[in-house]
Amino acid sequence: MARSNHAIHLSAADMPTRWYNIQADLPVPLDPPLHPATRQPATAADMSALFPDSLIEQEMTTQRWIDIPEDVLEAYSLWRPTPLFRARALEERLGTPARIYYKYEGVSPAGSHKPNTAIPQAWYNKQAGVKRLTTETGAGQWGSALSFACNRYGMQCTIYMVRVSYETKPYRRTMMEMWGGEVFPSPTDRTQAGRHVRERMPDTLGSLGIAISEAVEDAATTPGTKYALGSVLNHVLLHQTVIGLETQKQLEQIGEKADVLVGCVGGGSNFAGFTFPFVADKIAGKAKDLRVVAVEPAACPTITKGRYEYDYGDTEGLTPLLKMHTLGHDFVPPAIHSGGLRYHGMGPLVSAVVEQGFVDAVSVKQVGVFDACRIFLETEGILPAPEAGHAVRAAIDEALRLKAEGRKGTVVFNLCGHGFLDLPAYQNYVAGKLTNFDFQTGAPE
Ligand SMILES: *Cc1c(COP(=O)(O)O)cnc(C)c1O
Repeated sequence: MARSNHAIHLSAADMPTRWYNIQADLPVPLDPPLHPATRQPATAADMSALFPDSLIEQEMTTQRWIDIPEDVLEAYSLWRPTPLFRARALEERLGTPARIYYKYEGVSPAGSHKPNTAIPQAWYNKQAGVKRLTTETGAGQWGSALSFACNRYGMQCTIYMVRVSYETKPYRRTMMEMWGGEVFPSPTDRTQAGRHVRERMPDTLGSLGIAISEAVEDAATTPGTKYALGSVLNHVLLHQTVIGLETQKQLEQIGEKADVLVGCVGGGSNFAGFTFPFVADKIAGKAKDLRVVAVEPAACPTITKGRYEYDYGDTEGLTPLLKMHTLGHDFVPPAIHSGGLRYHGMGPLVSAVVEQGFVDAVSVKQVGVFDACRIFLETEGILPAPEAGHAVRAAIDEALRLKAEGRKGTVVFNLCGHGFLDLPAYQNYVAGKLTNFDFQTGAPE
């Protein structure tokens, strides 16, 4: 058989110049965010302590297409367009008649999809005269992406890093510091929120919910400082749609059509960015048979086991209430290695497309995820981030299902980051020490 090219590259001229806003097309519009104290719909003024007007506008607008600023396109061109690969060796290993493709976001400077939104968030803040951004980080992916972006635009960056990750993932902290960010293990004693949690739970591992409380309080109480969130919010999901828009062009270029799309979900940003341009076709009735799968950890099963209701985005109740799938704002997930997926809530837009019947959710267990990562490494040569491993696991399961049903089909998944800085987790796996966790008791299974 003639050797064919596994990578489908787009030319720079084919890079999307607009983001896609699914709010324009949702059959049932989103329920509004509510003010945390009054429980009345939050106004733009309520949010202006934390975000610049331009991003608040993007959060609320129902305009379908938003132009990407020229400076942001210039920064994107450092690593975009990203490649789409045909995973032929993986197909062969599985013996499946399905064709498997993956979009690879690990080629960015921070090694994940996160810079797709870190860059525009830092840029819009810079235009608004902001000098410093605060944020939280789990595994350190978002903290490193925002440090990179702030560094590019000459801004300071303060990162509250979930304590368990601060201790077990020292190298991402080094990257943040190399990019000029200052990093604190959360909960800290720098904020009232942090001190409050430490009093109640002195030995806490920390959580994204707690770290968000700290970063929000820091921004709201310091002049010249605003806050940036790496997932969940509408404007963050919007920025990530460059992933799906490119993927559509790449599939078109090779005359291919997706039957199944798979992405992992923490707060939902890489999943939304990858799938929403395709979900638009489903909403329009043009892709009725397309199956869109959101994959979450069984140890933090926000969509599959959570409730769909208003809840806070953080532990202390400082953020607006969002209508979303949630395990409760005081839920502290077990210490799985996918720090980026240890979040109690879900992006309201992702929750909405699940509720409105356009997206299915599944949960997968940690050991099965790492087994899938090993197969992927052996076949395709790339070590996935454990978060991305959830998508690998589910994509393999979908391809095996097609095999069992004796059907062809095209499975496309988002490989949202590489795992080169997650080696302590892989070390545990290789040593046979990795376990699954019960999400309710937090106990190893
Ligand atoms: C942060 C992160 C996630 C989870 O965030 P989403 O907003 O759900 O995408 C998943 N994968 C990687 C590699 C991450 O860095």
